[in-house]
Amino acid sequence: MIKFEHVNKTFGDHQALSDINTTFKAHETTVIVGPSGSGKSTLLRSLNLLERPENGLYHFNDQTIDFAKPITGKTMLNIRRKTGMVFQGYNLFPHLSVVKNVMEGPVQVLKQKPAAAKQTALDLLDKVGLADKADAYPGQLSGGQQQRVAIARSLAMNPEYILLDEPTSALDPELEAGVLRVLLALAQEDNSMIIVTHNMEFARAVADKILFVEDGKILFDGTPNEFFKQPTQRISDFLAAMT
Ligand code: ATP
Ligand code: MG
Repeated sequence: MIKFEHVNKTFGDHQALSDINTTFKAHETTVIVGPSGSGKSTLLRSLNLLERPENGLYHFNDQTIDFAKPITGKTMLNIRRKTGMVFQGYNLFPHLSVVKNVMEGPVQVLKQKPAAAKQTALDLLDKVGLADKADAYPGQLSGGQQQRVAIARSLAMNPEYILLDEPTSALDPELEAGVLRVLLALAQEDNSMIIVTHNMEFARAVADKILFVEDGKILFDGTPNEFFKQPTQRISDFLAAMT
């Protein structure tokens, strides 16, 4: 379980996160939505400690980080390992084959034996529908396929939470569908995921919980049913603008 309590983050005089209080339960998919510039990426990046809030508490299972105090390198590494971020732009190594891209972290960082890491990588590629591309190079893949490799690579590190920031925003609709299908399957397997998306249809299908963020504040924290079926006026205006 991840819990944020009274978390604040400013950029200069801009309050990007304002008194964030929420819980991300294990085995649930949380979807973060809200207007552009509202703080969604900042919230996701704070979970991975890529952003450093000024104050507030971050609970990860029984570990607590006080953002107002220094964070040790060991704690940082520990949290980064437990929260696998799938970056936009995929960040694949162009000179390594697809299967080697997926094996790289487990072999180099987790010190797994190459043969075992390769088998896991092949299983994960199968899971994201790319078993036949194991020996291809990233440059030979479509954007949607590269994004699915990036998801497999993140899964290979066996994080407790998978974080995705607009996983399909760079993709054409027909490529988007393949990525969304993979994420839906992962959600149905009860992985713990936190996803930022502008795709409301996907949000509705995948979410156990929705967070609506505006001006750095959480204005809604609840079920998709409540979010879509009984929206407040503000949320209803937001949804109308999204479709
Ligand atoms: P989008 O939907 O466009 O991706 P977002 O909800 O992810 O938006 P954030 O990227 O979290 O928004 O940004 C929240 C606010 O913080 C914005 O006003 C943004 O300009 C500001 N901001 C984000 N990162 C920085 C930074 N590194 N330096 C200064 N301001 C920043
Ligand atoms: Mg963003």
